Amino acid sequence: MVIKDAIELHGVSKTYQIEPFGGVKSVSFSVPTGAVTVIAGESGSGKSTLLKLISGLLEPDSGHVLFKGQKVKGPSEKLIPGHEAMKMVAQDFNLDIYAKAYDNIARVLPNTDLKNKRIRTIDTMEFLKIDHLAGKRVVDLSGGEQQRVAIARAIITQPEVLLLDEPFSQIDSVVKTELRADIRRMSHFLGITVVLVSHDPTDALALADHMIILKNGRNIETGSAAKLYNFPGSLYTARLLSDCNVLTSKEASELGIKSDYDRVVIYLDWLCLSNNTTGPVSFQVKDKLFKGFYEELILEREGVIVRARSLGTEGPVKGSQINVTILRYLEFED
Ligand code: ADP
Ligand code: MG
Repeated sequence: MVIKDAIELHGVSKTYQIEPFGGVKSVSFSVPTGAVTVIAGESGSGKSTLLKLISGLLEPDSGHVLFKGQKVKGPSEKLIPGHEAMKMVAQDFNLDIYAKAYDNIARVLPNTDLKNKRIRTIDTMEFLKIDHLAGKRVVDLSGGEQQRVAIARAIITQPEVLLLDEPFSQIDSVVKTELRADIRRMSHFLGITVVLVSHDPTDALALADHMIILKNGRNIETGSAAKLYNFPGSLYTARLLSDCNVLTSKEASELGIKSDYDRVVIYLDWLCLSNNTTGPVSFQVKDKLFKGFYEELILEREGVIVRARSLGTEGPVKGSQINVTILRYLEFED
């Protein structure tokens, strides 16, 4: 029988004694088997707490976590805390920095079959393209390389679930692209269920089969990345997932938008620079920021400032007037 959801959380709450407002509150969701689930929320929203609760490193005050239908035992119920089928890569990687990369990975396997241990270690290092770093000490590796060593160590025991805490936070953009490809390979080729948490989920949008939005310890929204990006149910989600202009209804009215809501949100990609004369709103270009393949324009109309994108670098000049068509906007209460 195939169980569709690897992990289920049912009303999971955890408060820390010293900080009563921290932790997580009544969180319920499920994590599909073999997919990539991204838990997104601003700093302090409870993401790391949630990962520890999922893997059995922390015990919920109430509610429970199921793995393949069985309750995940907390640290008080186990000799060695943590579920055997799950491995976590923490933000600090938790490596022995003075030991060689190879030894950091190999040491989690038993010594009962040394030949097999060597083959598996090398195979795993090859899978993550770090076999050439085997003899180097971790302290001499880059942040991205250290992260691969930590991931190799986590997946060598063939866990069913890999938990990644803020994997994009300490690496540069080239390494981010490689990491995204690696996570996809681990999920597709090894069939690992991946749960990843991030405070800047724009890095993970392309990866996420399924997203959970956390705010102040609560799961406020769940859905596909495309659904949550295009139809966010709250201002919090819109801000977290997109690059957007957030206006008051008074500011929005200067742009011809009539709204009874507190906030009007316009994503940068919904402002279309146009030569159209039917309906567009006229702005002055106050400034331009070079962003590589596009320019970010700072536009002003009647004291209202919005940001927009202009593809290429031959866009409108500073000080000029341009017409903008507002393709779409969202409205939210505060
Ligand atoms: P995130 O990973 O989203 O930044 P955390 O799960 O680390 O959030 O923390 C959520 C909240 O719980 C924060 O307010 C944090 O200060 C608090 N918290 C986390 N760990 C502890 C702890 N060990 N003791 C007390 N408070 C904690
Ligand atoms: Mg955290």
